[in-house]
Amino acid sequence: MSTQEPFTIEQFYNFIKQGKLMAGKCQKCGKIHLPPRPLCDNCYSQQFTWLAVSGKGKLLTYTVIHIAPQQFQNLAPYAIGIFELENNLKIPGIIEGVPQDQLKIGMELTLDLTSCNTTQQWPQWSRYCFKP
Ligand SMILES: [Zn+2]
Repeated sequence: MSTQEPFTIEQFYNFIKQGKLMAGKCQKCGKIHLPPRPLCDNCYSQQFTWLAVSGKGKLLTYTVIHIAPQQFQNLAPYAIGIFELENNLKIPGIIEGVPQDQLKIGMELTLDLTSCNTTQQWPQWSRYCFKP
């Protein structure tokens, strides 16, 4: 893989489209940024390498959305969780395929980059979801 891609949110979602979850690892201090950012908030370095991240996530917290923004209304109620991945990385994501009364803090779900219930209008961050 080329290392020339810019370390931006746009590139992060380009990788998502390709089915890859990629973080930016600071070459100077080793801090891993997910999503990647062009400037390390730890040491202010701008030198990064791409790092593939496993999609295995642990549910840290979640909330069920009953009153949804217009573009989500056909899905409401739906659950959004914060997931902890390897290397202590955390990302938010919509949870699919789990009945809401069976959601449990600490349950393990897997990031799905290919078959989520998305539409064109969804905000960028929800082009992935977590499933059992
Ligand atoms: Zn750094």
